[in-house]
Amino acid sequence: MALQTEYITVTDPASQDAELRHAADILRRGGLVVFPTETVYGLGGDATDAEAAKRIYAAKGRPSDNPLIIHLAYPEEAEAYAHTSPLYYRLAKAFMPGPLTVILPKKDTVPLSTTGGLDTVAVRCPAHPVAHRLIELLGRPIAAPSANLSGKPSPTNARHVAEDMDGRVDAILDGGESEIGLESTIVKLDGDTATLLRPGGITYDALCMVLDHVSVADAVTHRLAENERPLSPGMKYRHYAPTAPLVLLSGERERVLDFLRREQKETDCAILCYDEDVPFLDQRNLFCIGAREDLAAQAHSLFRTLRQADRANAACIYAPLPPTEGLGLALYNRMIRAAAHTVKHID
Ligand code: AMP
Ligand code: MG
Repeated sequence: MALQTEYITVTDPASQDAELRHAADILRRGGLVVFPTETVYGLGGDATDAEAAKRIYAAKGRPSDNPLIIHLAYPEEAEAYAHTSPLYYRLAKAFMPGPLTVILPKKDTVPLSTTGGLDTVAVRCPAHPVAHRLIELLGRPIAAPSANLSGKPSPTNARHVAEDMDGRVDAILDGGESEIGLESTIVKLDGDTATLLRPGGITYDALCMVLDHVSVADAVTHRLAENERPLSPGMKYRHYAPTAPLVLLSGERERVLDFLRREQKETDCAILCYDEDVPFLDQRNLFCIGAREDLAAQAHSLFRTLRQADRANAACIYAPLPPTEGLGLALYNRMIRAAAHTVKHID
């Protein structure tokens, strides 16, 4: 049965405590509230309520073995829900609040339905003031995956949330555009080993400055074999997928532009391109992702442009293959999965 979704705009959380208290009450009663974070919008429920987690999975149409991240107001609150370690506090000191999720052994205070049946739990402290205050007012952690339907790009503004979640959640808090635009970096801690499971706003290099050694899970850059068990259940699902096939292009710039111009003449394609390439292409179904060297701008606009390209109903979508350095690794990881690993080299 469809819910009557309430839309609440929160431009100034400091003076809008009444609205945020109302949203926290909805969560306390077991309801679902979508809230803004600096990464993407989250679809939140009370993390200590096993039934709320089930409602989140149902609203997203997400398989219930894909665990949820629990969002805390302060890093020390992890003590009540997870077995922390000195490495956790090193990461917390450097990157929390911020776009970093840490996976730790869980305590019984977190229901298994929140962690998809796993004995570990993912914790994060969002920096967004609306998210922070909402958690503080609830007085418990908020479990939240990205607020998109399973398989759609993560939403980076309330309009995108509404496209997917209207009638499926109790309330949507509109806090403007998400600053980063890609989901959090995920690091798994196991004793004194650290593994990067998902790259995001905190780069691999930044992690290495704080931890002595960080390994990178194969699935960050490679396709998993049919029988391979991923370290993170989310890795096995096709994600962020536009309806039309997405093809990533590598090769020398002039050659790629020649190829794209020919495709624009001969086929019905949509193109994600760098700002610098706009003057050299037909403007129809062309979507800018930012300047070639500006990876932060590309991260910010990636999911929005994927949604736009999808709406163009083209037969195929082309986009540049991102670099794997710095923030590029997070872009590469999302794009390669959206493209189901289809890369075409133009020479
Ligand atoms: P989302 O909330 O949509 O950004 O997705 C959360 C991601 O975190 C998913 O890919 C999950 O598989 C991953 N994740 C959450 N909890 C755990 C955990 N305990 N162990 C491994 N991966 C996790
Ligand atoms: Mg997601």
